Amino acid sequence: MKKMRILVTGAAGFLGSHLTDVLLADGHTVIGVDNLATGRLANLEHLQGEPHFSLLERDICQPFEPGQVDAIYNMASPASPAEYMRLGVETLRVGAYGVFNTLDIARRYRALYLHASTSECYGDPEVHPQAESYWGHVNPVGPRSVYDEAKRFAEATVMAYHRYRGVNTRLVRIFNTYGPRLQPNDGRVISNFLMQALRGEDLTIYGDGSQTRSFCYVTDLIDGIVRLAASDEHQPVNIGNPVEWTIADCAREVLAVTGSKSKLRSLTLPVDDPARRRPDITRARTMLGWEPKVQLREGLSLCIPYFTRAVQESVDTQQSAG
Ligand code: UDP
Repeated sequence: MKKMRILVTGAAGFLGSHLTDVLLADGHTVIGVDNLATGRLANLEHLQGEPHFSLLERDICQPFEPGQVDAIYNMASPASPAEYMRLGVETLRVGAYGVFNTLDIARRYRALYLHASTSECYGDPEVHPQAESYWGHVNPVGPRSVYDEAKRFAEATVMAYHRYRGVNTRLVRIFNTYGPRLQPNDGRVISNFLMQALRGEDLTIYGDGSQTRSFCYVTDLIDGIVRLAASDEHQPVNIGNPVEWTIADCAREVLAVTGSKSKLRSLTLPVDDPARRRPDITRARTMLGWEPKVQLREGLSLCIPYFTRAVQESVDTQQSAG
């Protein structure tokens, strides 16, 4: 396999950092870019002294010059609902200016361009499970619109650079993914539940917990992305685990895996929270030979050491502040 010089935007994020690890392990050189809006240097700490990795601390919304690259993985964006609602304008900007700027780099160097899109393109879906052919059901002005529409605009931009500018593009629609390096406090369901269970606090169920999600473990997700990059597919491809869980059952699974005695507590359901979500992964299966290997119970146990450390670190921080 050709050893490449690869740009990974959002390299200090959850997925960007795991992707960087896999690309380095495959013998490539990685230039990471991150403005640390939601990414964390701690996710890259283990790469200190790694000669094939460097990090540019900058915002991809401003044009920049990374030098010649063979591939670009555009992973940069706030992604948890709490974070993209806090950073609404920034989220729209990175999905627009950030995508234009990085596509221009791909065009200049004839580099492969893979964009991290999302199941949020389907909104609150009226079709179940969601295949790539479904156009979605998105509120263009609701609180989630800063993310959903940024990602939909980004898909249109990527397709346009493919059609009109000849860029070799890929679009991955990522469904809920979890694993170590999820930001412990970013409000997502798996991180919240694990932190709460390990602290012995109530698990916060938004609404009645009957809404569903399908959770993919991070190593499966990255494997899907790398396979997509190696394929010739320009149309969007869903990567996610098709096993669907209600949020209440997911909470019970977290209690079982952690052995926690925490209780479940109901809170208000956020506006426009999708009622259900499950990927149809027929395309990924047939075109990439991909399917997830890690099921929820195993994936949650693989997360425990990381979240146990995160709980301990938050206790240490509180004690040193107090
Ligand atoms: N959720 C919950 N309790 C939490 C956090 C999230 O019940 O503490 C629910 C949330 O309302 C949604 C689902 O879990 O229905 C997944 O939320 P998350 O923020 O992880 O991502 P989303 O899939 O909504 O983008």
